[in-house]
Amino acid sequence: MPPYILKNLLDKGSPDQRDMALKALLSATALRADRRFVARLGFIAPVSGAGKQRMIFDCRNKPTTRNAVLVRRESDRSNGDIAAIEAFDGVGTTYDFYSQIFHRNSIDNAGMRLDSYVHYGEKYPNAMWDGRRMIFGDGDGVLFSRLTQSLDVIGHELTHGVTQYTANLEYRGQSGALNESVSDVFGSLVKQWSLSQTAAQADWLVGTECWTPDIHGDALRSMKNPGSAYNDPLIGKDPQPGHMRDYKLLPETPEGDMGGVHINSGIPNHAFYLFASSIGGVAWETAGQVWYEALQRSKKDTNFDLFANTTYAIAGENFDTSTQQALQAAWDEVGIRVGKKEKILTGRTAAARERSNEDLATSIERLTRQIGSLRDDIEALKQSSGHVH
Ligand SMILES: [Zn+2]
Repeated sequence: MPPYILKNLLDKGSPDQRDMALKALLSATALRADRRFVARLGFIAPVSGAGKQRMIFDCRNKPTTRNAVLVRRESDRSNGDIAAIEAFDGVGTTYDFYSQIFHRNSIDNAGMRLDSYVHYGEKYPNAMWDGRRMIFGDGDGVLFSRLTQSLDVIGHELTHGVTQYTANLEYRGQSGALNESVSDVFGSLVKQWSLSQTAAQADWLVGTECWTPDIHGDALRSMKNPGSAYNDPLIGKDPQPGHMRDYKLLPETPEGDMGGVHINSGIPNHAFYLFASSIGGVAWETAGQVWYEALQRSKKDTNFDLFANTTYAIAGENFDTSTQQALQAAWDEVGIRVGKKEKILTGRTAAARERSNEDLATSIERLTRQIGSLRDDIEALKQSSGHVH
């Protein structure tokens, strides 16, 4: 749940809703402390293992995970709790998707156990991957529905884990928006794959189950038409652009959504939608493969241009010319040119250039000193030769 939605509620909600939004905004800090605590309890921290291993913990509506009770392991039957069932199934489908489509063994590709904490807090309107595990709130039932209901939200959150173990895209500015976009792309693909939908059949909405019927909105985000997912007096209007000309320059602070990571993600989201739609068929095959490979080749400071050029290179290496052209057209349509002749300056070459500039400055300094002492020598020679005469 992007912070600006909660901030809107802080301004315009009822006292109860303001209270809920405030608690949700404050919980990030509390959860970080929890995570450190849980990490110290070695036995409960997720470890890597053989294959699909899920664990579901119930927080019993406490705003902490410390006293959560283990309610289901991989081999256990369901305890009948709907949120626990949805989390178990959604995490399982996401695991299966990554395993069958990309031959990836869990988040870390080493069989990491997938822990989910359900019924976190009271009416907590969020779901998140906190770096080690999934945490789900129940929503308030008035504005926000139960978060475990949306398979693409579960896929989105777990993909943050996949990104963490691959490109580790820094969560601010363009790399942060790419991080968010990659989560939307694969979250949406998990849903499309589970429904056996082609790109043409998919709704390309993320989080269609998030809002209750009282809220004027279809979803949290739209990849097909960024900026159109919701528009409601209480939660505001979807602020996502779908083109570079509308890129939002925001401060890299929590208030600025870390430079608009949930906002500018609309641009690469839309490029993926355009690419997948123009080549047709199921989106996880060609388009998904290109994006997955691009994620493996990205670094923490990869920006839109670099990512787009990486996808272009991958399409050229692994697919035919028409696929590469469709990809180029998709990026072009969101205002990003790929396949340019000039060399792209990566983080590493930029650093190397800076180093060589420093070297040059040192050399000039040394040469200046040498010239100075040569001049002194010449003067001395002139004077000594004068003595000879
Ligand atoms: Zn996210």
